[in-house]
Amino acid sequence: MRHSAENAILAFLEQTVESMTTDFEFIVIGNGLFGSAAARYLGKQCQAVAIIGPAEPENERTHDGVFASHYDERRLVRVLGHSRVRSKLGQMSMGNYRALEKQSGITFYEPVGYLIVNSETIEDNNLESPLEMARDLDVPHTLYKEGDRSWQKQHPHFSFPTTHWIIHEPAPAGMINPRAMLSAQNAIAEQQGSIIIPELVARVEEKSDFVKIETQSGKHYTARKVLVTVGAFTNCFEFFPKKLPLQAETETFILAQVSTGEANRLKGLPALAYTINDPVIRDIYMAPPVRYADGNFYIKMGANTPSDVQPNSLAEIQDWFHKGESDSHLADFERVLRKILPDVDFLSFESKRCIITRTATKYPIIDQITARSFVTSGGNGSGAVTADSIGRLAASLLMKEPWILQIPRNLFHATEYD
Ligand SMILES: Cc1cc2nc3c(=O)[nH]c(=O)nc-3n(C[C@H](O)[C@H](O)[C@H](O)COP(=O)(O)OP(=O)(O)OC[C@H]3O[C@@H](n4cnc5c(N)ncnc54)[C@H](O)[C@@H]3O)c2cc1C
Repeated sequence: MRHSAENAILAFLEQTVESMTTDFEFIVIGNGLFGSAAARYLGKQCQAVAIIGPAEPENERTHDGVFASHYDERRLVRVLGHSRVRSKLGQMSMGNYRALEKQSGITFYEPVGYLIVNSETIEDNNLESPLEMARDLDVPHTLYKEGDRSWQKQHPHFSFPTTHWIIHEPAPAGMINPRAMLSAQNAIAEQQGSIIIPELVARVEEKSDFVKIETQSGKHYTARKVLVTVGAFTNCFEFFPKKLPLQAETETFILAQVSTGEANRLKGLPALAYTINDPVIRDIYMAPPVRYADGNFYIKMGANTPSDVQPNSLAEIQDWFHKGESDSHLADFERVLRKILPDVDFLSFESKRCIITRTATKYPIIDQITARSFVTSGGNGSGAVTADSIGRLAASLLMKEPWILQIPRNLFHATEYD
């Protein structure tokens, strides 16, 4: 048996050796849209980067782990978003898409343009009016005022009430495939020498000069700094000394199947954000027909509904994905989509479950929480378009680089920590 003084010396030596050599300089926890972008930016300047996060589950209904916001074939991207801050971040991200595609060899971007349909009389989720932003910012667009029906020549399949104005934002607005964008970010990160570890992280322990990360399977990794980018799951694990001001929220969307012929007929249809005046569903967004993995074409439409709930634990989020009430408003989604695209022949309608992460400020959190741990989360339902820029900003914090934006850094603080 070892003497207790001997044990103490050995423990001290183990700790000293561990702190001298860490496995990585930076570990990014969460291989989602924010994390994959951050890891690529970190890996541009540092060889010792790892991303730890599980791959997409094969069957959501039976999966016993975490989920994500990006498990889909389409996310909509535009400059005239929810605020000037988001517009700037979106513009920076979109400006990189072609270079990302080229370097990775993976295509994910279709700049098909965007229609923003809104009415000043309906309260919407935007921080700022897209109409004012269109007037003030140097973003190419065409505005059709209330009552002006001339937009129908360019967009004959759509139907909207005359009470709404319409902005057409051309390319670079359009759509991305989030799964493919993630693969592109990962491919470049790997080209740069970063390592992807497909595991779930259970806890982060901060020591004086390194962080120790424990995975669910019991493996340990060390790094000088850690960036947590696990979206809705940030408060579900032992990552930080306190809960962060983030709220998970359930999100429902539908896939409306159309035939290949119908998909071809609708070629060139832009993406859509529609602030609808409807008794049940709000804040509609829609992606034109896209071929999904089953070989069929679907129009995707999402919206906020009265059934959206705010789960507060891993078990509650798992419950939503396993058996949540995503069909509650299926008939309303169908009714509205048929009204928006009255000449389209739909074959079927199916509801899907997703999860988003909200912040009180409606801006994402990009912040340092402790000496060695950082966080970025809070896409507020529209983080895909800004993900590349958010990853860049988060990486710059870890690398102690100057803040690259004119936008004040404190907009992205985890304010309840101050
Ligand atoms: C239905 C729907 C439609 C949307 N439409 C749009 C849109 O049109 N335009 C737009 O810009 N945005 C859209 N969004 C929002 C956008 O998808 C999200 O803002 C974005 O994906 C957030 O990225 P993230 O990296 O923060 O989180 P996620 O994409 O959720 O990634 C988090 C990652 O963390 C991993 N993880 C979780 N826990 C752990 C753990 N303990 N250890 C390791 N890894 C972990 C997960 O596996 C996941 O890969 C939509 C979201 C939904 C749900």
